[in-house]
Amino acid sequence: MSTRSPEQTAAINHAHAAREIGRYEDAGTHARTTTLVVVAGVHGNEPAGITAAQRVLDTLHHEQPTSFHGRLIALRGNIAALNHSDPETRYIAHDLNRLFTDEQIALPASTSPEHEQMQELLASLRAIRAQCDRMILIDLHTTSSRMPPVVVLEDSIPTRRIARCLPLPIYLGFEEELRGLLMDRATNELGSIAMVIEGGQHKDPSAVGVHEAVIWTMLDAAGILRLDALPHEAPPKRVLRQAAGEDADRIHDIRYRHAIRGTDFAICAGIVSGKKIKRDVTIIATENGSAVTSPVRGRVFMPNMQQHKRPGDDGFFIVRRVGEGWLGLSARLRRQHWLHWLIAHAPGVYPQPDGSLLVDADLAAVLRRQLLHLLGYRLIRHDERSGGHGLSRVLKGVGAFGRAFLRGPIRGGLDRDDPRFWIVRRHKLDLH
Ligand SMILES: [Zn+2]
Repeated sequence: MSTRSPEQTAAINHAHAAREIGRYEDAGTHARTTTLVVVAGVHGNEPAGITAAQRVLDTLHHEQPTSFHGRLIALRGNIAALNHSDPETRYIAHDLNRLFTDEQIALPASTSPEHEQMQELLASLRAIRAQCDRMILIDLHTTSSRMPPVVVLEDSIPTRRIARCLPLPIYLGFEEELRGLLMDRATNELGSIAMVIEGGQHKDPSAVGVHEAVIWTMLDAAGILRLDALPHEAPPKRVLRQAAGEDADRIHDIRYRHAIRGTDFAICAGIVSGKKIKRDVTIIATENGSAVTSPVRGRVFMPNMQQHKRPGDDGFFIVRRVGEGWLGLSARLRRQHWLHWLIAHAPGVYPQPDGSLLVDADLAAVLRRQLLHLLGYRLIRHDERSGGHGLSRVLKGVGAFGRAFLRGPIRGGLDRDDPRFWIVRRHKLDLH
């Protein structure tokens, strides 16, 4: 058994105190309870969520509502970047919201300021998880471009149900394009419902009010404190609906991400979030002296307007709207056990011991994200190969299916790194 010196214990307690913005719980709260965890300031130039969490905690401590059942804990994200003398500092060495991968977590905390932040934050979250029955995490951010507030989440049915309590536009599928998200770690390691809220532009004063309204609404959705238990200056759901405008309640599924390659990357004038673009036609940005288009049609989302851009950063995303019918159908399909059995045993599909599926890449490209998402499969590894369009897509599909059928089982086992396959897996929270 290892023991800590009093100095070490004091240092750890100090780190926890700096990390925690505050907490509120009812007197009767014990281990088996619902905990809403608010994480704010994962990016150093996005302090709005911290102010919002402080406001909610101040109100709770002042009002002491008797009908509060559960726990609210608010944590700071990247303390090193938040405390930096330059308030524009997003991160010191690494984007903290890309570090929550197994490989990075295995590295020592001394690797970089963000590795230390990541280890500390993760230790706090694991400790919180060990003390509650059900955990819901919201990670509060703001954006460089002007756009209405949005919710980003991994599309499991339980997370969808909670997120839809917020009258904000919802964006699905981002964890497929971005590795190492805090939200993803919370879901897949800790079994927590988790989502990211983008509350508006960094310096927009209304972003604090949006985040505050999000926290109140989530307390209600989690069954911790009803919205009508306290008098609110403006009803939180109305605040959110007004901020979201005509986009409130709309749902979007990701189709494409453009990663920045050149340091001269610049979004073209007139390209804003929500703008409809044509495949291979609309010029969205310029980079390395040439025009950048999208290989899929849809709408632009989160065009990168940061002053400092680095290769590998997100340039822009392309999303597509999905309707209520799609959501309802996918919820029903995901519950059909026979269907998942059938998929796992189809030609060109190879089940793995960890529950994931290797899918013949040509077949997967024809099926495309839409269908895989509809059936509740998340892309773990994929490439941008085209499945074709119209008749050529049908022919490609028939060809890929035929080849897979003739090939049959692959002898000698499969290599997970084999580029002939995509890797897909059902959402963890859908499996319970
Ligand atoms: Zn952020």
